[in-house]
Amino acid sequence: MTMPIFLHNTLTRSTDEFKPIIAGKAGLYVCGPTVYGRAHVGNLRSWLFADTLRRVLQANDFIVTEVMNITDVGHLVGDGDEGVDKLQMAADKVSKTAWDIATEFTKLFVDDIKKVNIETPHVMPKATDHIAEQIELIKVMEAKGFTYAISDGIYFDAAKLPEYGQLSRQKSEEKEEGARVVVNAEKRSASDFALWKFSPEGEQRHMEWESPWGKGFPGWHLECSAMSEKYLGVPFDIHTGGVDHIAVHHENEIAQTLAARGVLEANYWLHNEFMLIDGGKMSKSLGNIYSLDDLDLKNISPIGFRYFVLGAHYRTQLNFTWEGVKAAQNALNNLVDMARDWQKPSVVDEVTMGKFMLAVNNDLDTPAALAVLWNFVNDGAISSDVKAATVLKMDEVLGLALEDVIARPLRISEAAQKLLDEREVARIAKDWERSDLLRDELFGLGYAVEDKPTGQHLRERR
Ligand SMILES: [Zn+2]
Repeated sequence: MTMPIFLHNTLTRSTDEFKPIIAGKAGLYVCGPTVYGRAHVGNLRSWLFADTLRRVLQANDFIVTEVMNITDVGHLVGDGDEGVDKLQMAADKVSKTAWDIATEFTKLFVDDIKKVNIETPHVMPKATDHIAEQIELIKVMEAKGFTYAISDGIYFDAAKLPEYGQLSRQKSEEKEEGARVVVNAEKRSASDFALWKFSPEGEQRHMEWESPWGKGFPGWHLECSAMSEKYLGVPFDIHTGGVDHIAVHHENEIAQTLAARGVLEANYWLHNEFMLIDGGKMSKSLGNIYSLDDLDLKNISPIGFRYFVLGAHYRTQLNFTWEGVKAAQNALNNLVDMARDWQKPSVVDEVTMGKFMLAVNNDLDTPAALAVLWNFVNDGAISSDVKAATVLKMDEVLGLALEDVIARPLRISEAAQKLLDEREVARIAKDWERSDLLRDELFGLGYAVEDKPTGQHLRERR
């Protein structure tokens, strides 16, 4: 099945047919985490979008190479060139080193993306493992006259690159006016950014390296230009990130690669919109920066959250409300209940699958794809073995881990059955306290129990 894939390219502001550099292959670079804290639901949305893109490419028979960077140095508070390093800041708070913080949160990150069933990127390079490559890239830019030195580091001279600003279409002067903080007075222009920052005088950073310009550390944007080139070549096919990366981080990545190599870093730039929380921003003061653990406390599973994210197009703002995620979890639970009762998978319904692929190939229209799925599974005229095969195929894109449940009746362990029987007795006796206690015990065994008019209804927590 060869169908065109249409993707919205931030660079051209249009939805274009995806044309790979090498037929049948796709190089994908996903802006990864800065590992100084736990990923929140907004971060996860961005990586779920990138995972959906990868899965759609794979479903269209592309061989995908996905690279996701781990930022463990150089990302300063405020995303610019001022302020302290996010990792060092987190480390100082708990009297650890930045290296410990990086190890701790990289592990948590990897666990989190596994939980939401994101396929592991083929390469997850760390900025600190690629200092030599980054220094090399600065040397090339320096030789071509794109850099200058000031008291706190080596900077990129945006005025030397006529194409600067092509991604955000923001002029340098506009940036100057829009800057929230007072820019470094030594910088020639607000658009200029640090390539190498010097370690502060008389202070030893947790992470610092020797360089031809002095001891210090790389600027945040540099790692992505250096590591994408190393693992995907230049140019490569697709670069993803959140819309917050457009104006500064990705603009600067493009500038570095263009200055050093004379070519565009990537042909397609895809960006996901923000996630709002109850219609507003996430913030520490509002206490609404949720992680997967916070969702778990409210019985929302990682896959339930994935389903919630798929319910909105990646280029629309997604409003997170507890009602919304609960509705998504219920929809997933219903699908799982249905899927358990299906017969063994037989043949895929190609007409339905064609509709599904048309939706996802239309700039990853996952809400439309889910609508195709629901129309199909609710169609009483279709046999359950065909449903099983077709939904299994759809799930290669959706990633709802349905292979674990399709045509696999729920197995209730002996211990769970015992609790369930006890709870039935408690319910008949209207002993609600005991009934709740037993429900919690079942929960601990990995089962969620719901009381329906027909009686107790058990399902695996997923
Ligand atoms: Zn990046």
